[in-house]
Amino acid sequence: MSFHNIIRTEILEMAAYQAESADVAVKLDANENPYSFSDGLMKELLSELAEVRLNRYPDPEAKELKDAIARQTGVSQPQILLGNGSDEILQALMLTFWSVKAKMIIPVPTFGMYGIIGKLVGYDILEVSLDDNFDLCTEEMISLAEREGVKLIFLASPNNPTGNCFSEGRIIDLLENTGSVIVVDEAYAAFSDQNFLPKLKKYKNLVVLRTLSKIGLAGLRVGMMFAAPDLVYEVNKARLPYKVNSLSQKAARFILEHDGEMKVQIEKIKSGRRWLMEKMSEIRGVHVYPSDANIILFRVSSAGERLFRSIVEDGILIRNLCRPGRLYNCFRVSVGTEEENRMFIDSLRFRMQV
Ligand code: PMP
Repeated sequence: MSFHNIIRTEILEMAAYQAESADVAVKLDANENPYSFSDGLMKELLSELAEVRLNRYPDPEAKELKDAIARQTGVSQPQILLGNGSDEILQALMLTFWSVKAKMIIPVPTFGMYGIIGKLVGYDILEVSLDDNFDLCTEEMISLAEREGVKLIFLASPNNPTGNCFSEGRIIDLLENTGSVIVVDEAYAAFSDQNFLPKLKKYKNLVVLRTLSKIGLAGLRVGMMFAAPDLVYEVNKARLPYKVNSLSQKAARFILEHDGEMKVQIEKIKSGRRWLMEKMSEIRGVHVYPSDANIILFRVSSAGERLFRSIVEDGILIRNLCRPGRLYNCFRVSVGTEEENRMFIDSLRFRMQV
């Protein structure tokens, strides 16, 4: 029997998600926090984890972790939903609003998983290009949303891979002038000055996503959704119950309650970003785009593919975005440690000369 003729066409047409891999010393391709916590903090954390009873299922509601998040953000528990990374929450959200021919809007370029999960769940995905400053084209989005009865609009702000926040006024425009649920994905909020959490009080069609992945806990897989309690109540039904495991719940709560080191790391990443942007702008043939995140988008004047291979040869992995179109000859680099940033600048400077 051949199973291929009974597999969903969307699955057959897709390629499995593959993180870029190369045997390199310096990984600046995945938007992670490059720092580890101190041995002292890790020891304390491990002794907390030793108390976890692995023979028991996790708390499906992760109440203790939600409690820590509620205290930190000022958002009440019934407004919080947790998932196995924000990727899982995106899927639960899309499942919640799905119907035959359901439509969603994504700006382009943006975070690839919106389109991938959307297609998998069965949405028609409507793409609207960002403007010359990588900001939202709201007029076009509003009229498209109205014309097509769009259910969901996904906005990563700061945006990945461009690094910038969308202007607050334009996001509010979408909140006020569409009948869609507007998902403001603030995965990179820690590195920016924008914060849509206070707006939850006013806008019932607003969903804010956050994650612990960019601030030092990518391995835990903890994503957070904040929205009106009745929306959280519904999305919670579309999520699998035990996706945030006991170790992740405990570790995330511990780190959020002992966040001094994390805060220092975030400041170091922000100053690393300033330093990198300054040094990159000094290199001839490199154009650097503004960033509110721990990632920097840049364009080189020519031969992007060759440059990418040379940088990998120097033991540094960045994200290659060189495809024909909007991001032609573009790359995204994550801010690393001071030493990693220096190695990247030395490599880029040298390779741009030859
Ligand atoms: N949203 C954006 C905008 C991202 O860039 C990423 C990760 N690259 C995610 C969400 C996924 O986060 P998580 O690790 O929590 O699934």
